This record gives sequence, structure tokens and C-alpha cells, in this order.
Amino acid sequence: MSPIGATTSELLAHMERGEFSSVALCEAAFDRIAACDDRVGAFLHVDREAALQQAAQVDDKRRRGAPLGRLAGLPVAVKDVICTRGQPTTCASKMLEGFTPPYDAHVVSKLREADAVIIGKTNLDEFAMGSSTENSAYKTTRNPWNLACTPGGSSGGSAAAVAAGMVPLSLGSDTGGSIRQPAGFCGLVGMKPTYGRISRYGLIAYASSLDQIGPFAHDVAGAALLLEVLAGHDPRDSTSLPMPVPSYTAALEEPLKGLKIGVAVEHFVAGLDREVEAAVRQALDVYRCLGAEIREISLPHSKYAVAVYYTIAPSEASSNLARYDGVHYGHRAAQFENMIDMYCASRGEGFGKEVKRRIMLGAYALSAGYYDAYYLKGLKVRRLIRNDFDAAFAQCDLIASPVAPTPAFKIGELVNDPLAMYLSDIYTLSANLAGLPGVSIPAGFSSGGLPIGLQLLGPPLAEDRLLRAARMHERATDWHTRRPEVV
Ligand code: GLN
Repeated sequence: MSPIGATTSELLAHMERGEFSSVALCEAAFDRIAACDDRVGAFLHVDREAALQQAAQVDDKRRRGAPLGRLAGLPVAVKDVICTRGQPTTCASKMLEGFTPPYDAHVVSKLREADAVIIGKTNLDEFAMGSSTENSAYKTTRNPWNLACTPGGSSGGSAAAVAAGMVPLSLGSDTGGSIRQPAGFCGLVGMKPTYGRISRYGLIAYASSLDQIGPFAHDVAGAALLLEVLAGHDPRDSTSLPMPVPSYTAALEEPLKGLKIGVAVEHFVAGLDREVEAAVRQALDVYRCLGAEIREISLPHSKYAVAVYYTIAPSEASSNLARYDGVHYGHRAAQFENMIDMYCASRGEGFGKEVKRRIMLGAYALSAGYYDAYYLKGLKVRRLIRNDFDAAFAQCDLIASPVAPTPAFKIGELVNDPLAMYLSDIYTLSANLAGLPGVSIPAGFSSGGLPIGLQLLGPPLAEDRLLRAARMHERATDWHTRRPEVV
């Protein structure tokens, strides 16, 4: 059996039975990367030697019968916005070129404790700002299902690495859909947990009140296992929730009885691709056959989500990115006249176009005289969006929707039209604004052979419910078993 495209549970079982060593698995991952990453462009950095050394240690532990972590020997890829000790972390920006963090992010320490093998760092839109991975300062990542299309973004590298069979698991971050949308575009399971469920210590900040780390996998069990390893309280992130972590994997196979799924009228309007709508409706039929009740609900303020998000996220970004001044952090221009000129030249050279656009949008929204009209107003509408969800979850257990209005779009199609790009985030942003967990699961294909995702949203800390519901759909369908042919 080839490990390429195998699921987490399959690979763990093979290693347990001694059919594969972790070294063999990691070598297969590197071979796969060598064979197709020049076309896919998922990785910014791989560390073969360190990974194989780590894999050999896990194999040795297994041989000795020493206790093993939950991800023992599995190759994992990490989005390059998450700090890894001794491995470069660039945020796909020239600003952080050459930066090697002296510490591991909380999630990376968790991966190491679980005996996972960190294979490398994946490409993203610069500082996670984008929906297509075209805003990387280094390269464009392509969708393994169709190399002319984007894998989505901003965690496009992490999604493409799993979809192309380079690794079975990867980490992304989701500030406004950056895990769920690429998961949808690449035919994967991708989850954004509740705000605060996973520590953000060592995640380089984009918009701190929205950022959350989460897993990509081929199937629900893989995502559940990775979430279980990563979730939990960490005193180094003051927004991390001091709540116990349930076993997401233990109850996964138990179907939810009397499940009530809400469908928002506002989600099925002009702009939604016909094939995407058909796939979502078909998924709802699957749930109906499994005994779920589908209820119409309303999220009346969801129409403001794009405007609110693109006010609040850039505002926070403009503040977070102020630290890259050529003195504290990041690139410093080689030539300048005086101190102010040094700041200007360093930031001018280090940041790309989209990042500069966000900094300007945010600085404007936060400036005296506009703060009340934009930022404060945005915060108020954000509250109304959350209130809509609270009211909806009084009537249903979960909300089902499309992940994105269309399947993966073509490279170059939206990148020069920022407004159109921002509008493509319409279905994913609200969960971040409201702090809710959401998961994207494979739900079909377009006539052009591109994956289509279904999004399930739940109330705070309902990750277990989301994963069980996702698994119900997965058991009844075979979309998650398909793999693209990248050779
Ligand atoms: N596409 C959104 C943006 O550009 C979301 C990105 C993300 O979740 N990191 O900001």
C-alpha cells in the first residue's frame, strides 16, 4: 500500500503493525514533495535532515516499547505563520525573510509532545491576508485538483500539501475563513475551532480578536485527532479558554439523534454558484435521510459581515504590524537619510501590496475623527452578528451553509480586484466575528472536477457536535475518499 493520500488512522495503524516505519513514511513525504511541489508550490521550507532524525527517534521509541504520543511518527506540515524553533518563519513576507524563531509556538510544542514529525513550513498569503495564496512574496501555490486554479487561502500551502498527498495532516490559521475555504477548495476537512480553544502563543498575529489555529486532514477522524492534540488552556495566551478538552475522537462514530440543522435564508441568494448550491442541498438531503431535521433560520446581519470584517481585521492588522519597523523586527532598508526615512524605506520594501492596503485601510478606520464612524460602528455590528447566531442556536444545533460562493477560482482571476476577492469570503467571516467553531467538509464536485465544501457552524465549544455531525455525512458519502491526480 502506498502512503500517498492515506488517512491519519490508516497510517497510524500501518506503523503500529510494523508495516511502515516513520522514517519510511517521512521519506515517502519528501519523495512526493520532490516529485510534485515544483508545480504545486505548497512548501516554503522543508527540513529533511531534522525530520528524518526525529522520525528515527520515534521509530526507536516504538521498537523499545516506550510510550508514544497520539501522532507518533506522522509527518505534519505547519503554516509559515506559526513559529518553529530553528526553522525559518517568514509569514510569506520579505519582511521576515531570514527570521528563525528562538522558540516553538504552543501548537508546535504540542505536535512534538505527540511525537509528530514536522516536515516543513507551508506557503500562505503574506501575513495571512488573502483568499488565494497569490499574495505570498515567494510563490503562488496551485490547487492539486487543477493547477490553473488557486487552492484558496490564506492557508493554501497547508491545504495543497495534504490534498496532493505530501502529508496526511497540516496546520492552518483562520482569521476570516483561511482554513475552511482552502479545505473546501481542496476537498479536505478543515476546522476553525472556537476562539480561544487553541493557544495562539507563537502564532504571528494578523487580527488578534479573530485569529485561530486549526487542522487540515483528509477525513473527520484526522481533524478530530489533531484538534484533540492541540486544544486546551495555555497561560501564555490570555485569550486561551481554561476549559477541559473532551475526547473528540472517542464519540465520533456515535450519530447525533434528533439533530436540528439550521439553514439561513440569507445564504442562498444571488452570487451563489448553481453547482455549489446543488451540492449543499444534496448534503442537506443526506442529513434528512439520516434523521436530521432541517429548519429555516435567519441571520439578518450576515449581509454586513464582509464590511465589518474588512474594517476590524485591517484595524487590528495595522496595529499588530506596527512592530515591523526595521528596528524591533524584520527587514531594515540598506539606505536611508534619517530615522523616519528608515521606517518608511524598511516598511516600503518589506511589505507587499495587499499588506500595505490593509495597513492603510486599518490606520484610516482607527484614526481620530473616523474611529467612531468605522471601527466602533464595526464593533457594534459585530455584536449584532453574534446575537443573530445566539438566536439561531436557540432553534437549531448547527448551521449548514456553503463554504464559498464558487468552487476554486482561477489563478489571476480575482487578485487584481480586491473587492471581489473580499466578497468571496462572505460565508466564512461571520464565524470569526462571532468567535464560533466551524468546519468545512467535502460535499461534492463541480462539473469541472473541482471539490465543493459544506460548512457546518456551531455554538461556542461545540467542536464535538460539529465533528460528529461531519462524520455522519462522511459515513454516508464517499467524497472524502477521492484524490487528485498530481503526478
Ligand atoms: N481572506 C480573509 C482575509 O484576507 C481571511 C484570511 C484569513 O483567515 N487569514 O483577510
